[in-house]
Order: sequence, then C-alpha cells, then structure tokens
Amino acid sequence: MADSHASDRSCRWVRVVLDVPLPGPFDYRHDGPIEAGTRVIVPFGRRKLVGVVVDNPAEPAFDPAQIKAVEAVLQDLPPLSPDWLRLARFAADYYQRPLGEVILPALPGPLRKVSAYQGKRSAGGPVARQSRRRRAQAGQDAAAGEPPALNAPQQAAVDALLGCQGFGAWLLHGVTGSGKTEVYLRAAEGVLGRGLQVLMLVPEINLTPQFEAALRARLRHVAGEDGLAVLHSGLADGERLASWTRAASGQARIVLGTRLAVFAPLQSPGLIVVDEEHDPSYKQQDGLRYSARDLAVWRARDQGVPVVLGSATPSLETWHHAQRGHYRLLSLPDRARASSLPAVRLIDTRRLYMENGMSPQLLEGIGERLARGEQSLVFLNRRGYSPALHCPSCGWVSKCPRCTAFSVLHRGPHGKHRLQCHHCGHQARVPHACPDCGDQDLRPMGRGTQRIEETLAQAFPAARIARIDADSTRRKGSAQALFAQVHAGEIDILVGTQMVAKGHDFARLSLVGVLNADAMLFSQDFRAPERLFAQLMQVSGRAGRHDLPGEVLIQTGYPEQFVYQALMRHDYQGFARHALQEREATGMPPYAYQALLSAEARELSVALDFLQDAREAGLAGAAPPEGITLYDPVPLRIVRVADIERAQLLAESGSRPALQAFLRGWVRRLPELAGSRVRWQLEVDPLEI
Ligand code: ADP
Ligand code: ZN
Ligand code: ZN
Repeated sequence: MADSHASDRSCRWVRVVLDVPLPGPFDYRHDGPIEAGTRVIVPFGRRKLVGVVVDNPAEPAFDPAQIKAVEAVLQDLPPLSPDWLRLARFAADYYQRPLGEVILPALPGPLRKVSAYQGKRSAGGPVARQSRRRRAQAGQDAAAGEPPALNAPQQAAVDALLGCQGFGAWLLHGVTGSGKTEVYLRAAEGVLGRGLQVLMLVPEINLTPQFEAALRARLRHVAGEDGLAVLHSGLADGERLASWTRAASGQARIVLGTRLAVFAPLQSPGLIVVDEEHDPSYKQQDGLRYSARDLAVWRARDQGVPVVLGSATPSLETWHHAQRGHYRLLSLPDRARASSLPAVRLIDTRRLYMENGMSPQLLEGIGERLARGEQSLVFLNRRGYSPALHCPSCGWVSKCPRCTAFSVLHRGPHGKHRLQCHHCGHQARVPHACPDCGDQDLRPMGRGTQRIEETLAQAFPAARIARIDADSTRRKGSAQALFAQVHAGEIDILVGTQMVAKGHDFARLSLVGVLNADAMLFSQDFRAPERLFAQLMQVSGRAGRHDLPGEVLIQTGYPEQFVYQALMRHDYQGFARHALQEREATGMPPYAYQALLSAEARELSVALDFLQDAREAGLAGAAPPEGITLYDPVPLRIVRVADIERAQLLAESGSRPALQAFLRGWVRRLPELAGSRVRWQLEVDPLEI
C-alpha cells in the first residue's frame, strides 16, 4: 500500500491539510500528482498522520530540502468530491478555522486514524474490513400503513418543492401537528423517484425513532431495502463509516442525520430538508462552531438543489429571510388531524397556594385526565430533585467548589440524595448538618423533575408515572423504551425536560402543564424570549394532536408578558413581528452580525487581559475597522467552571462581509496574543451570549 519514497528529480509537490493546531496546509513530495480530496499518510514531526490532499502546487511553500515524502496514498475510498471540498472550504472560511480542522474532524474516525491502516490487523484498511462484515439490518421496520391524502396546503408545499428547478430555499411554517413530516415524505418520494438523493437533518434522532421508522417504511419502494443511511454522533465508528461510504457511493438514497450529517458526502443530491430549523442543537458548540442549518442552505445553493426549512416557530433569522423574500414561505395553518390547536391558559401563580410547585388547576386537570384514561405531560426544564440545598437558619446554600454555580440535589437509585454540579459533574455527599452553622434542618430549595415526580406520585398514587430527562435516560435505548411505553398507553403522567417537547405524536395526550417558565423570561440573553416562545409552543403542541381536545396550562407570575399573550393566541407571527421590532430597535441580529471571542484561563484577569489586548489589536490595525464594534470584555455569568475562569468579547457589525473581512485579519493575530496561558475560541453567529 505504501508508495515508494520519491528520491528522483521528477517528484511533484502535494499540499496536504492535517488536523493539528498549527497553521497549515503542509507540503510534501510525491512521485506524481495526487488528486485533491485523496487521503494520504504523511510524517509530521515524529508522528504519522492521515491528511487530505487539497492541491498540487507548482512550487512548494517551504525549502524543498526540508520537505518529506508522502508515505502512503489511501485508495480504499474514492477521493472526497470537489463539491464536498467546496463545502469544507466555505465552512473553514466563514467560521474562521484552518481547513484541516474542518475536513478531518468531519470524516468518520477510522478514515483519519493511521492505526487503521498500519500493523498486522489492518489488512486493507477499515473500509475493506467493514465490507467483509455482513451488515446487520436495522431493526424491524414499522408497518407502512396507508399514507393519508394530502390536504390543500400540504399539496401546495409538495408541488412547490417538486416543481423547483435548481436552487430554491423554502420556509415551511406549519403549526404543531400540521403534518410537516408528511410534506417531507412526499417531497422526498418525488425526488427519490427521479434517482436523486435526499439529505434530511433533524435535531435529535434518538428521541424520535418513529421518524426514522416512517422514513424506512414509507420510502422503501423508491429508496430500496437498504436505501437509508443514518448519521449521528451516537453511532459507533464502524456504523458511522458504513453510513458515510453508502452515502458517498450513492447506495444510500436517503441520508438522515443530526447536524454533523450536513457534511455527509452525497453523490447526486436532489433535496435537503432541515426539520425544526430553529432548534439550537443545529449549532455545534465546540471545535468548528458551525450552524448545520446555515451550511445546509449554502450547500443547497452551491449544488443547485431545493432546501426546505421546517418549523412551527422559525428562528427570527429565518423568518426575517422569508419576510424579505430570500426564502419562499409555505404555510400549513391548521392541524392535519385534530380539529383545533390546544386551548392555552395562563395560570397566575401570584395569589395561589401551590402544592410543591403545582397549582390546584393543574392537579385538578391531571386528575380529570386520569379519570378519563387520557395522558398528561408536566414540563419542567430542570432535572434533579431541587436546584440547591439550603439552610433556613443561616442562609447557607450548596455550591460547587469548582464552579460559580449551585450544587444540585439529586435523588440516587436507592433514594439516597447526593449533590451534583451540572457544569463540571462534581459530586458530593449531602452534609448531615449545615457546614456554616451546624443546624441539621437543611431543606431542598426549589424543584426539579425528580421532586415533581415525587409530588405527583403522592397526589395520584394509582397513576403510572414516567420521568424523561437526561438522568432517567442515561442507558442507551432507555429513552426509546420510555417513549414506547407512552405510545403504548402504559403511562398516565409524563414528567420531563425539553427532551419530551421534541417531535412526538402522542395520540392520547390531552393535557400539558408548564412549570417555572418564568425562569427564562428575564435572562440576560437577548434570544431568551424567542427560545422560550419556541419551547413552549413546541411542548404545547404535544397536546390534543389526534381526536382528543388539547389543553395547555402555563403557570406564571407574569401572565401579561408578551411571550405568554402571544402563546395563548397561538400567534407566532405576532410574536415574531414584536420581537423583530425590538431587535431592530436595539441593533441585534438579524439586523446585525456578531462574532464572539471567548477566553479561558486559570485566573480571570489573564483571560480579561487577553481579550483587552485582542480588542486593542483589533481597533489599532493598519486601518481601524469601519463599521465594526468591539465591545468591552466581560466575565461570563457563570464565570468559573471546573476551576477555569471565563470571559468573552463581542464583535458586531451591520455588514456581514465587513465583519468577515475584519475577522480574517484579526484571528491571525490572536495566537500570539494568547500565548500559552489562555485558551480561546472564536464563534461566528453565536447563539448564546
Ligand atoms: P408536525 O410535524 O407538523 O407537528 P406531523 O407530521 O407529526 O405534524 O403530523 C401530525 C399528525 O397528523 C400525524 O399523526 C400525521 O400522521 C397526521 N397527518 C399528517 N398529514 C395528514 C393528512 N393529510 N391527513 C390526515 N392526517 C395527517
Ligand atoms: Zn446554616
Ligand atoms: Zn462544578
């Protein structure tokens, strides 16, 4: 497999990108050109690394005498295609990352590990090994069922997508339960029928296995038995590699995946779908901090195919694009099955006696549903037993020793409590007495899902209660098992965090109760109201989706707030108008473009000094940047996590090209300013500030 060393004069230069924290690319010699997109093994320092060829330059960028030879050209897979490389280049450029740190992390693990190609057991590399193994067929498929006849707005949406020649971007704005999935299925069916591939992005696959099952069952006749490939971060290396190679070869007709699937290699794309396009999980939060939704739109334009972004509560960025005509709007204004949207009621908690966080109205509502054999959902975006433990006599509160955050009280498997930090994972025993004053009467402060579950069990001893949050679903497959129980009608009351809000179509769920929504109301983050509205709309949308009328009870101390008023009227458009006016008045996205420079260090002053230096360097460049605002560095609200202090600096501009041009120059100067005491990250279009 290894090519012989090229020592003759006729050798050529190849430019290779590597996943190393040094500015690349790197030049090597080889006895002939190597096609761009080919993976190679090259020496780097004392190591050997897998890299990807991006160019065959006429002259090397370094002294030819120092240039080493390519060790091996990997030919177990065809080279990465030119369009895939264009996508990677765009992402590197836009998100200000070295190309190697975009390309290599996007590949499945085995394709970028030297060990997979060397040594006794490697025999031909991971691709060859894998194709010898018989692939296990994915579990039993759901029965196909008779597809429903499309209603008029659904039909119009499908017609628009299938009538598209070349690139087109659509926003599919459909209320919860309006049948957006059905639109994706029919559009996909049409595109597959033309022999083209479909890329479908979803926020979460594990939480919505019905979606995958529906795709398999409904599209088997056009996609073939083995026509679906799934890509998400929970897959084992081998599975991810298998999906990747099937997508690249075109054997997989449909590629269904989470954000990382936007980098799936496609042979003949014909449609890109981004479901729940507003979902924050489309934003990668470390490494290359990309937005899979935004890259999906770029990719569709680059490849000349239609892209559809679907949501009941589009992000304000997307809604703004639709308002300006950049995206075409498709609306599904009514529910497909149920006769109406659920009735949303606000419960003013200011003058109520609450039973452990739950109002009499909510408890009564749950009781009625129980009596009728219907299901209820209690939504609380806070896991654990209670957010903190405290001492009423002296005011002591449990805090993480390593973070500026409370230590959360959790009930363990045998009813034993412990304290746990949600930021660094630090665990501690519950003290027998107050560490400050010695009082033994320590109390839980506030409520999490475990405590609500306990209260419900006391109030309704005969009810079958399930809790779905990150704690109750740690074991692989346990979330699916719990959701299956709900679907099967084996659960009466479901308690959960945002995990329960996503995409489920529960037939017998008729009541949704929302606790503690106000916590998000007064957040510092300017996107908090948008996120709260989307989250509550989504969780409300779980109620009354089939024949039963749905009811939503939102407990709040601020019923007059615009977010709640708009929710009560199911008025996304009114909410969006109001929120966009506010954004425009305050010069916030989508009326401005932002980038966030964050810094981490052992001491806060070190992080802040670096940011201050970066700010001055940015302002004092050869030509001070026009139209760019660099704000003062500020510590994060939770300033210390795992004994690391954190701060950030916001860069902003009314012009995206101006911001991009500024960042390109700025980012080059940062490594030197940071030295070795600061870790920094630059995030373009940050979601959380
Ligand atoms: P959304 O994704 O918009 O929230 P779903 O796609 O889950 O909504 O659809 C909600 C329910 O309506 C599902 O049970 C689905 O099978 C059903 N449905 C969708 N389209 C139709 C239709 N045209 N006629 C009857 N039922 C439909
Ligand atoms: Zn005390
Ligand atoms: Zn901590």
